[in-house]
Amino acid sequence: MGEKQVVISRRGAARLAGGHPWVYRSDVLRADAEGGDVVRVVEERGKCLGRAFYSDRSEITIRLVSQEDRPIDRAFVRERLASAMAYRKRVVEDTDCYRLVHGEADRLPSVIVDRYADCFVIQTLAQGSEKILPEIVGAIEEMFAPKAIVERNDPKVRLLEGLEQRAGVVAGELREEVEGTINGVKFGFRLLTGQKTGGFLDQRENRREAARYARGEALDGFCYVGGFGLTMAGRCSSVEGIDLSGASIEAARRNQERNGIVNAKFREANVFDALKGYEEKGRRFDTIVLDPPAFAKNREAMAAARRGYKEINLRAMRLLRPGGLLVSCSCSHHVTEEMFLEMLGEAGRDVKRRVKVMEKRGQAKDHPEVMGIAETGYLKCIIMEVE
Ligand code: SAH
Repeated sequence: MGEKQVVISRRGAARLAGGHPWVYRSDVLRADAEGGDVVRVVEERGKCLGRAFYSDRSEITIRLVSQEDRPIDRAFVRERLASAMAYRKRVVEDTDCYRLVHGEADRLPSVIVDRYADCFVIQTLAQGSEKILPEIVGAIEEMFAPKAIVERNDPKVRLLEGLEQRAGVVAGELREEVEGTINGVKFGFRLLTGQKTGGFLDQRENRREAARYARGEALDGFCYVGGFGLTMAGRCSSVEGIDLSGASIEAARRNQERNGIVNAKFREANVFDALKGYEEKGRRFDTIVLDPPAFAKNREAMAAARRGYKEINLRAMRLLRPGGLLVSCSCSHHVTEEMFLEMLGEAGRDVKRRVKVMEKRGQAKDHPEVMGIAETGYLKCIIMEVE
């Protein structure tokens, strides 16, 4: 059939057999392929293990796309999107914004597709998925007839693949803000300039759970466009939202307006400084949410990250009135739930507060974590009562 071929070692084959779709460069024996090709993956004795994206740059040289020996064309992409959609229909409710494709978890490695109402945002984060971008766009157009499709191919990880960083509208016409409803709250998303693909869809279920227990005076630390704060506002007497980014604070205020919420205030500040400031002034809260960016982007950054997480959590515990609610998140993949809980326990001991763990949560179900593919899981959200 003239397909390019890559021969992998027994260790590489064992990894694929174990359910992980990646094969590292050290397990590639021979590659008759160019970067971005869809290749047939064969083991030493010649048995075909399926089709994969090949990268000539990344240490992740092979990303298995299909265990079957079949073309990765538009019909194939349509099948994958259809099964991704069928799963979302089972697990997503009450929103028109969700992640349709969570990369490896949906068997479309290095591909992200997020839906914001009638618009779609795509990321292709490896050479192979980059090449099939036209097929992905075409399949989405055929299946969903969207108003616009955007590519947010500006994440830094693309540099590891030798790919450029770019963002733009690839189909249809995009409005400045796309309005979507999450947990009954309306948000405006700027798909070309917002963080990630425009918003943090992975926190949808955690915001809802936080709102169940939230009360009194609430602080939403690292609020971005008001995700937690606006969802909790109806349960609280007041909400204060803090973010370092001025554009996010403006967006949070627009969202507040959009929902006619009157008991929330958003301001631009560094959460580390703000927590210190509150402590000096003796200000107290009944509910605090901490949802910082990933402090540990890689293993080397772990020690500093832990100090960062501990500092904000310890300060937040001190600011809580007895029996207050702490919702603490970490989206660093390298910080495991066990490590995160241990850090929270230490913070509690240091400030002499007894901490009850009410819920240990992760990312919303439309961002599935698949057994055997550890990288598909990253978000921790611990809900606690601080006695
Ligand atoms: N809680 C949000 C998502 C937060 S993402 C939601 O539910 O949608 C993390 C946010 O932290 C980003 O908006 C970023 O601008 C902000 N940020 C990063 N470092 C910060 C700091 N030191 N102080 C305050 N905000 C910070």
